Amino acid sequence: MSKLDPKLYGNDTNAVRAGQQRSSEGENSEPIFTSSSFTFKSAAEAAARFAGDESGNIYSRFTNPTVRTFEERLAALEGGERCVATSSGMSAILSTCMGLLKAGDHIVSSASIFGTSVSLFSKVLSKFDLHTSFVTLTDYNAWEAAIRPETRMLFLETPSNPLTEIADIRRLADLAHSRDCLLVVDNCFCTPVLQRPFELGADIVIHSATKYLDGQGRCIGGAVIGREDVVGEDIFAFLRTAGPSMSPFNAWVFLKGLETLRLRMQEHCRNAQQIAEWLMRQEGIEKVYYPGLQGHPQHALARTQQSGFGGIVSFELVGGKAAAWRFIDATELFSITSNLGDTKSTITHPASTTHNKLSDAERQAVGINEGLIRLSLGLEDINDIKADLHKGFLKVLK
Ligand SMILES: *Cc1c(COP(=O)(O)O)cnc(C)c1O
Repeated sequence: MSKLDPKLYGNDTNAVRAGQQRSSEGENSEPIFTSSSFTFKSAAEAAARFAGDESGNIYSRFTNPTVRTFEERLAALEGGERCVATSSGMSAILSTCMGLLKAGDHIVSSASIFGTSVSLFSKVLSKFDLHTSFVTLTDYNAWEAAIRPETRMLFLETPSNPLTEIADIRRLADLAHSRDCLLVVDNCFCTPVLQRPFELGADIVIHSATKYLDGQGRCIGGAVIGREDVVGEDIFAFLRTAGPSMSPFNAWVFLKGLETLRLRMQEHCRNAQQIAEWLMRQEGIEKVYYPGLQGHPQHALARTQQSGFGGIVSFELVGGKAAAWRFIDATELFSITSNLGDTKSTITHPASTTHNKLSDAERQAVGINEGLIRLSLGLEDINDIKADLHKGFLKVLK
């Protein structure tokens, strides 16, 4: 069976079939190729593969058929030319930076990104003379002012974690290109189902596959998508040499996850919207953060840039950390875990978990207060989710 050309099919079809190449066994579902290396018909063929004169597998640190199926399927869904899978979302960001940047280069990043991404930029890459300026996600003047002659990359997540601020990707892409920079978008919260950054001018899309792409909380993985000459050459060259490659088993879990991604995302959005509206009616809350609420500062932008508002809702309780911890401990159904994008609803206290590596000043600058709670709405019965949160409210209002 030859592979389907994703350009000829809709994305619901691509999600289920793109990248599949049946073996001579005729299997219907994609197999897991657990083989570290691959054999050659002759010494001459081995030499041709190693020389790059002939395409084909050599070793699973470089390429693996199951991993390739995942890569091609995700590239099709994002509308990108080439995808490389990585061992984690963090190694996707690391591989992008190591593949494209050199000592002396500069990054401008949103300050409201995943806490570990901040640490990667400010504590790890800085040791190699790769420096990052952090700006407020929605302050476009600040983005422009932070760009220097040696800036190579603008980096952001939208919606941001955990406050769900939305940045105008088109506007930042135009800014990046006018200053000879690449725009890198971590599309973890939306997935290609809700937001397609390439259509808005982004150059590179990053994923933590750990979240919605798996969607069932099983495996750690990541991906980088972009043009063949950027991702397929520079980033892949780093990956195959340095080795943060995705395992075939994890790739299989993720590629099966992609098959149900749209259906799951729609239900995550539906539950999140209902919970956000319900939270607005509760007592003891300072603020609810969800792009699907009319009062969200970038609600209008979210409507045009995304096809759904996502599964993450944050809210700030009156009473700071003590109230937030009491609330979290009173829930019984919610999983207390910092993971997100799971079928199971999760609850976390960002200030003391995902963002605990930031200093108090850094946390305050990005608006992550002690009373803040982040929910990732899963696929449970909406009435059970509300009843569980109600236990939290009873505990803090007592
Ligand atoms: C989780 C996450 C990452 C890191 O991914 P891992 O798979 O945990 O390494 C990066 N960006 C965002 C937005 C995330 O939520």
